[in-house]
Amino acid sequence: MKIGKLVQTLLPKILEYCEQKSHNEFECLCDADYTKRTFNLNFPLLVPVSNLPSDLSKRYWTKVYLVRGQTVRACSQWFEKDAVYFAKYLQRIGIDYDQPQLENELLEFRTIPSRRPLSATPRANSRYRGNAIGNAQNLLVRNILSNLGTEQFSEEDWFATKAYFNHQCAYCGEVKELVIEHAIPINKVYLGEHRLGNLVPSCKECNSAKASKDFREFLEGSDDKIAAIEAYMDEKNYVPLENNEQVSMILEMAYREVGTVAERYISIINELFIPEDDK
Ligand SMILES: [Zn+2]
Repeated sequence: MKIGKLVQTLLPKILEYCEQKSHNEFECLCDADYTKRTFNLNFPLLVPVSNLPSDLSKRYWTKVYLVRGQTVRACSQWFEKDAVYFAKYLQRIGIDYDQPQLENELLEFRTIPSRRPLSATPRANSRYRGNAIGNAQNLLVRNILSNLGTEQFSEEDWFATKAYFNHQCAYCGEVKELVIEHAIPINKVYLGEHRLGNLVPSCKECNSAKASKDFREFLEGSDDKIAAIEAYMDEKNYVPLENNEQVSMILEMAYREVGTVAERYISIINELFIPEDDK
């Protein structure tokens, strides 16, 4: 389960805790400092609907909850790496959740290979397993996400994009050799797409340091650079797919199906052609 989905699933329990067991937890969850410390969120977890500025609206799920007589919306800006904060919080306020299941799910996210070369050395004894299947699964997800929509990212678009960013790296601001970088990574966790608005110029160093992080995660603390990329996305009408549950579900299906297909053919080949002592 993605962290965002997990938060949404358990939010009613947290609100129940605010309602019944704590006098000030609701105020705390509306406080930016508290939620930064507690969840590493860059925005308050809860905001009363009447106080939500329209420019922040896209950072909050649309669902409205009623707590302590107020209607609130909850922040959607969760990063997978911060799941541990959420787990600690649940523990602190005494909300039970399926610990082994949660840990497995978190583990699954950490093991998604990111831009690992296809030639990555597989574990001994797993001739065609492991990385190879993971890569095939991720390639399919990349392929699907890269082909959504009909627009093409042309050479001209690339020149225009570099010009927009003054021929500087969108992350460190240096003028260097620039490569195309997906601000929101193209994988089943972040659902970035290969289209105008999500492609930004990056130096090679930032490109490899950022790897499969989201640009906001990578640029944490550099609010001006985050804002510049977000402004660029807005200008190009790039509306990220993040937290689109249906797309996530479909990609998850594709991901699993590729894994199953690969396993099936691996066992056929192993049965037929790989000597017994080499398995
Ligand atoms: Zn850079």
